[in-house]
Amino acid sequence: MPVRKRSTELSKRAATSGKPMRKAAIKKPTTSRRLVLRSRFPQRKGAALTAHAAATYAELERMYPDAHCELDYRNAYELTVATILSAQCTDKRVNMVTPSVFAAYPNAATLADAALGHVEELVNSTGFFRAKARSLVGMAQAVVAKHDGEIPHTMAELIELPGVGRKTANVVLGNVFGINEGVVVDTHVGRLANRLGFTKAIDPVKIEHALMPLVPSENWTMLSHLFIWHGRQICDARTPRCGICDLRPRCPSAPLDM
Ligand code: SF4
Repeated sequence: MPVRKRSTELSKRAATSGKPMRKAAIKKPTTSRRLVLRSRFPQRKGAALTAHAAATYAELERMYPDAHCELDYRNAYELTVATILSAQCTDKRVNMVTPSVFAAYPNAATLADAALGHVEELVNSTGFFRAKARSLVGMAQAVVAKHDGEIPHTMAELIELPGVGRKTANVVLGNVFGINEGVVVDTHVGRLANRLGFTKAIDPVKIEHALMPLVPSENWTMLSHLFIWHGRQICDARTPRCGICDLRPRCPSAPLDM
């Protein structure tokens, strides 16, 4: 299979399953970047790494005191729907689409009975719309059949739902139920975890498990928000604005000449 096609297939599969995409979204630092990193800071480990995480968290909290989930929702059902739609799509676009989805299907029971074609029409602009529509209706049917129409409160039950992977489950548990079961790792969180020297892993689940011991569990949900906000506003994937970044003094990826 040609490389381009294989990559598209991976993206499609991630969108349809709701499971994190493996080895696609998060790039490894280049060799030259790793050399800079080694020459500027000895790789932090143990207590030094934990202290680096605490200081980074505190600085990000100072920089983004209003950090929060940017998807619009009013309850667990709506956030589950919005998060499924957010795969490979911006929160802004999702927020443009969800009002009409929630108006037509205000709960799992109504979405479970939806005509697939109508859901496809509503979510068309979010990309991978056929797969997402199938996931939404499948998720709602499972919620009705197994959980009396209510979104379940545990990781184990959530990841059994069609279209719901560990990332979506962490979003719902952390933001609606106040349960810090893990760290949401999207493309921003993965990129920052690498650039800030917390892990060299590229697999989202490995990144999550590298971050969890470094930050108190009650801060796991907020850690994701802070990384996502910083990733969107300063530490851009292609052109990080290191020159205006307050994390620069402690960031192993900041250019040496700044
Ligand atoms: S210094 Fe640069 S690479 Fe490091 S966190 Fe800031 S913007 Fe990102």
